[in-house]
Amino acid sequence: MKNDCLFCKIVKGETDTQFLYEDDTLVVFKDKYPHRPVHLLIVPKKHIRSVNDLQTEHENIVARMILKARDIAKEVNVDQEGYKLLFNVERGGGQVIFHLHLHLLSGQK
Ligand SMILES: [Zn+2]
Repeated sequence: MKNDCLFCKIVKGETDTQFLYEDDTLVVFKDKYPHRPVHLLIVPKKHIRSVNDLQTEHENIVARMILKARDIAKEVNVDQEGYKLLFNVERGGGQVIFHLHLHLLSGQK
């Protein structure tokens, strides 16, 4: 965990961000700067910088992120229409916040 990490603050409830979902492992909330009509972030509570930093011990976290994304897609009714799950990795991959997160995107730009 890093003191200057925005997502660490968010997952600890230190901001006014509203969670669509929360459990012991992860939270889900709306991206503040949506690229699509539906743009949600699935964020683990544990601070992991990026996909590059994933260790074998994190495999449950990653699996739960993807399965939760699937469940949330169904909840917000985009599962049949279709959606995109995206990990941006490091600056060249478009990552802006260096705390692992999965984007769930759906709908036209
Ligand atoms: Zn963090």
